[in-house]
Amino acid sequence: MEAVIVLLPGDGIGPDVTASARQTLQAVADKFGHRFAFKEELMGGAAIDACGDPLPPATIESCMASDAVLLGAVGGPKWSDPNAAVRPEQGLLGLRAALGVYANLRPVKIYDALAGASPLRAEILDGVDLLVVRELTGGIYFGAKTRDADSASDLCVYQRYEIERIVRVAAKLASTRRSKLCSVDKANILETSRLWRETTDRLMADEFPDIEVETLLVDAAAMHLMSRPSDFDVIVTENMFGDILTDEASMLAGSMGMLPSASLGDSARGLYEPIHGSAPDIAGRGIANPCGAIASAALLLRHSLGLEDEACAVESAIEDAIASGARTADIAAAGETPISTADMTDAINRYLN
Ligand code: NAD
Repeated sequence: MEAVIVLLPGDGIGPDVTASARQTLQAVADKFGHRFAFKEELMGGAAIDACGDPLPPATIESCMASDAVLLGAVGGPKWSDPNAAVRPEQGLLGLRAALGVYANLRPVKIYDALAGASPLRAEILDGVDLLVVRELTGGIYFGAKTRDADSASDLCVYQRYEIERIVRVAAKLASTRRSKLCSVDKANILETSRLWRETTDRLMADEFPDIEVETLLVDAAAMHLMSRPSDFDVIVTENMFGDILTDEASMLAGSMGMLPSASLGDSARGLYEPIHGSAPDIAGRGIANPCGAIASAALLLRHSLGLEDEACAVESAIEDAIASGARTADIAAAGETPISTADMTDAINRYLN
């Protein structure tokens, strides 16, 4: 097949891991006989430096004309002045809104060979295979904001249809897995959460009676994720809770650098990115873990291009590379010699061939 893939390397380690994902996608194209046209565009701090806009119109235009978008990461100390007129993260929120991607899928898979990289005991990690479905275009991140010298406010708003569509995405995914859905809210305190719970309960009873539904308050969910992570199948939650819980869940996998994400809307065009940020502390050293970005490329193949076999091939290649002992610094145990981003990418691509 032919596909146009827009790459948004962004800032910090973003360009390194995006280059890795591009190489893997090219290796997939070569092996399976596809033609992927890659187009790189500016985004985030790099775009602010180039033209004063974290999401230039040309970037939006290319993304809207593409089959899929792969993003590295944006942000960093250079652009984090709270009084700055524009910030890299505005580009991220703007891009999600422009692409209409409201469902953020964050699968958390544990590689047996990496059990030692997690701060949790191996027996707690046994059998962990969960998927967090985070609402991405509503809630407090998108509500009206106010600020004066001594006070500030962020408005959290959810419409019923926004809850219904994300819960449907999560329930459909659960029906292809272990048919368990856990909805996370803060219904004992927040009005938006009470609407979330009422809507979820009714929709699940009406449309997905065969799926087992559990409801947890977000504070309890944070605890259960660490104490009994293998009990979870699909977790669905609102924007900010999902943001926080998935960083926590990344510790199950051992490193932020391992986890991918897919952001989907009503069309096939999706936005794919590792869950990590621009990691300024290791930027420019060539040591970032590319697994999250490469696994995001696998999700791109699956969800936007419909190439399931190719997606599975990439995921197996990551697993095989790790099983063979390839480790970047963030997942290397004491006594293991860490390898560079480029070498890790080569190790993964070797298993594709
Ligand atoms: P971060 O995810 O960038 O880094 C957290 C820690 O994880 C750091 O110690 C980092 O070195 C490590 N890490 C992250 N990715 C790694 C990888 N691939 N390989 C090895 N180690 C990795 O989070 P942060 O430090 O809180 O944020 C840094 C910047 O990134 C901030 O400007 C923030 O706003 C931005 N950010 C961007 C995104 C995004 O683009 N989607 C997401 C989160 C944070």
